[in-house]
Amino acid sequence: MRLTKMLFVTQREDPADAEVRSHALMARAGFIQKLAAGIYVYGPMMWRVLRRIENIVREEHDRQGCQEMLMPAMQPKELWVESGRWDRYVSEGILFHFKERKGSEVCLGPTHEEVITAFVRRQIQSHKQLPQILYQIQTKFRDEIRPRFGLMRGREFIMKDAYSFDVSAAAMAESYALMREIYRSIFTRCGLRFTPVEADSGAIGGSGSEEFMVDADTGEDAIAVCRATGYAANVEKAVSRIAAAPEPATDVAMHKEATPGARSCDALVEMFPDLPLQRMLKTVLYRAVFGDTEQSVAVMCRGDREINEVKLLNHLGAVALEMADEALVRKATGAEPGFAGPIGLDSEVRLLADHSVEGVQGFLCGGNETDTHYLDVYFGRDLEQPETADFGTVQAGDLMLDSDDAIEITRGIEVGHIFQLGTKYSEAMGANFNNEQQKLEPMWMGCYGIGVSRVAAAAVEQNHDDGGMIWPLPIAPYAVHLVQMKAGNEEQDALADEIHDSLEAAGVDVVWDDRPKVSPGAKFKDADLVGVPLRIVVGRDAGERKVEWSLRAGGGEREVLAVEEALKRAQELCAEAGR
Ligand code: ATP
Ligand code: MG
Repeated sequence: MRLTKMLFVTQREDPADAEVRSHALMARAGFIQKLAAGIYVYGPMMWRVLRRIENIVREEHDRQGCQEMLMPAMQPKELWVESGRWDRYVSEGILFHFKERKGSEVCLGPTHEEVITAFVRRQIQSHKQLPQILYQIQTKFRDEIRPRFGLMRGREFIMKDAYSFDVSAAAMAESYALMREIYRSIFTRCGLRFTPVEADSGAIGGSGSEEFMVDADTGEDAIAVCRATGYAANVEKAVSRIAAAPEPATDVAMHKEATPGARSCDALVEMFPDLPLQRMLKTVLYRAVFGDTEQSVAVMCRGDREINEVKLLNHLGAVALEMADEALVRKATGAEPGFAGPIGLDSEVRLLADHSVEGVQGFLCGGNETDTHYLDVYFGRDLEQPETADFGTVQAGDLMLDSDDAIEITRGIEVGHIFQLGTKYSEAMGANFNNEQQKLEPMWMGCYGIGVSRVAAAAVEQNHDDGGMIWPLPIAPYAVHLVQMKAGNEEQDALADEIHDSLEAAGVDVVWDDRPKVSPGAKFKDADLVGVPLRIVVGRDAGERKVEWSLRAGGGEREVLAVEEALKRAQELCAEAGR
């Protein structure tokens, strides 16, 4: 493909709203253009990348016997009422929904459990038809609270979603294990460095949920990793052991102290420099929502630890959890925010404690009175230790539960999620099969998602430099960037033309910068920005059939090669990368 024939427009400046490099670089290179918040046009280069990712996804699924299909994006409300998800998705605001001409409501699918379950319940009657794994690659719609980072968190995005149907929990686990292997092959083939991590499976519980994280410092997800044991878990789910708090030197009676303006641990540390942070217990108030009812909840936690709201939500079995607003704090504590504590809390508030408070004695806690804290408090002596469970967030330096190996925190971008659903949807929607004894049973389901458009953004987030994107060869928009220094020079024209045709004939896709009025410097800048992995430069040595060969990822190292050698290398590398 000649650049002079392409719609090729690049910009020098980052768009003002780009918070991460992948967004800025893709926008500058014309790969994406914003239409509205979280809604993007995919330009021709971007579409080539997305199709490459889709094809890898497709091949790896098909190879293992999964079957591709396509479901409608528009879905009737009734299905979502059947599964019980309509109200929650509407109240969370994630669902795009509207009334159609005749007055009934429809939504644009954020995911397809309902539609696939409705499809399968009419297609499958017998255990003889199971197992099945069905998938589609399709546009999804989610009215995200904070659409951002370009394609990373869109409101309209491309997802591959797969669903498995089995006769039993054990068979479901087998389908799940197969999908895990498929996901590993997909992300490996895409040329990405990634980490599969244990993930929270929410209220559904069940035995399995894993996320596939592309390793990137700018990722939205924090991951707890133990290099020694290979443990890796999303911090929403991760568990650890923490060092005990230092014990108090003397056994003093509990007393109240004036702590004017000390609403945070930082302020308290300044006020009581001799008291270790581990003996300052904070009490955080929440509003937990359960369908129609609500409950105020207070959670105690050590001053040096943070509360994990996902664990708390799961423990409570709540639909949603919000930090208490000022009115609720005043009602629960009788004080301004910042002085909540376990002693003298409103009796309607459910008091819980994180594991980190276990064994802590002689501690400080809020006084439930403005500008007041209790000091030298002892569990057992001054109050009972409340119901305790793990509501803590793992921190760097924590230890594994069953060994002395340390945990570190890294970051990643969630590009895939696999999930054992059990019979949640099949029971709610009556997707049953006749077992061998001719008895009706609900099917065991799994669901498996890959954010195809997010994969592209994550690839750039992981692979870029100051000059631009560096596409992994398997998913790059083109394999070779052919830069002709001087278009119009006869020798260069002839050689570039020959290279272009030979590459295309060999099935190696090439973009040929044949622009006549653009300086070599500007051509190299554009080539760096676009990030095509292999580069061949036709210049001064064209008469001797010599070219300059370099890799976009190679830090600018160039080699002068005979044309034939450059062509051979390009073909070999493409074959290695499976393209
Ligand atoms: P997140 O936690 O990032 O909001 P999720 O857990 O809600 O994602 P899933 O329902 O597991 O997402 O969707 C499957 C995959 O789709 C995710 O692993 C992710 O790669 C992708 N995805 C989800 N939301 C978006 C989005 N708003 N924009 C682009 N890709 C997305
Ligand atoms: Mg997910």
